[in-house]
Amino acid sequence: MLTCRDLVAQSSDLLDGELSFKQRLAVRTHLAMCFRCRRFVRQLRVSQRVIKHMPDTPMPDLERLLKTMLEQRTAQSSEKGQQDKH
Ligand SMILES: [Zn+2]
Repeated sequence: MLTCRDLVAQSSDLLDGELSFKQRLAVRTHLAMCFRCRRFVRQLRVSQRVIKHMPDTPMPDLERLLKTMLEQRTAQSSEKGQQDKH
């Protein structure tokens, strides 16, 4: 019997279609009974699709975007910290 841990370990192979028939059957049986793993696999599918459909963003742009987001977050949290002191 497959445990939730086993399923998580095999989930990326499952989505890539790299499991054998037997393994797939075990995964499907577990998914039929386990709501949490069903939700997990569904979320994994969605995020995989998002990654695949993402335009080929040049890395420097992505890094700059992440840095900007991070800086904004830091600025917001330090502002909030000052407000909390009053
Ligand atoms: Zn499970």
